Amino acid sequence: MKFYVKNTTIGLILNFIYPCYCRGCGKIGTAFCYCCYFNNTRENPAFFSKKDKNFRIIMACGMRKGVLGAMVAEYKYYSRRHFAPVFAKYLLDTIKCFKKDERFVLVPLPTISKHIRSRGFDHIRRICEDLSRISGFKTCLVLNRDKSAVQVGADAKTRLKQAKEAYKINSKASFDPKSHFLLVDDVWTTGASMRAARDVLEAELVRRGLKKSEIKISAICLVKNDGYEF
Ligand SMILES: [Zn+2]
Repeated sequence: MKFYVKNTTIGLILNFIYPCYCRGCGKIGTAFCYCCYFNNTRENPAFFSKKDKNFRIIMACGMRKGVLGAMVAEYKYYSRRHFAPVFAKYLLDTIKCFKKDERFVLVPLPTISKHIRSRGFDHIRRICEDLSRISGFKTCLVLNRDKSAVQVGADAKTRLKQAKEAYKINSKASFDPKSHFLLVDDVWTTGASMRAARDVLEAELVRRGLKKSEIKISAICLVKNDGYEF
């Protein structure tokens, strides 16, 4: 005999056993309360750029600073998985702000498998799946990552070279080449990862018969480092 328990019930039980505290104010019951979310989006607002013509639009939920910057670091380096739905909301609100009526296919930038093992989960994919649930956008694992490519600490030129070699098309993924692809990543530093991922995806779409003018690729990140342009 199977028991079906509503997600909300599980959430309530888990919240009782392992209470969740707001990262901003410490209030019990949520990872980031409405007030802290509202205040943070005012202090550190989302923004976009259309300067790089290789992308239709590049969006960011904010700068890498304050509580948002700290949450991204804690999510990434301390596996704070319960921040994933908060980030999904940030991403959706940012998309609604700048590209309201667009139907995207979400493409998580793949993480090195060594990092997935050490974190215990694929941090970008998890955010995309949460974003899929609240937006209705499909998440498609279009890209694969080479096992060895590491980027942390390398200079901009080296990062771009490494990044270009890092991504491959996932031959098992099925997607409509005419979709509007939204590449999703956590932190924008030099942009090397996004640009390399875009180049790999574009080459595949051209190979499938699309003209460059028909290709629709955009990008979104949670936070952008100061000192680097889109
Ligand atoms: Zn709060």
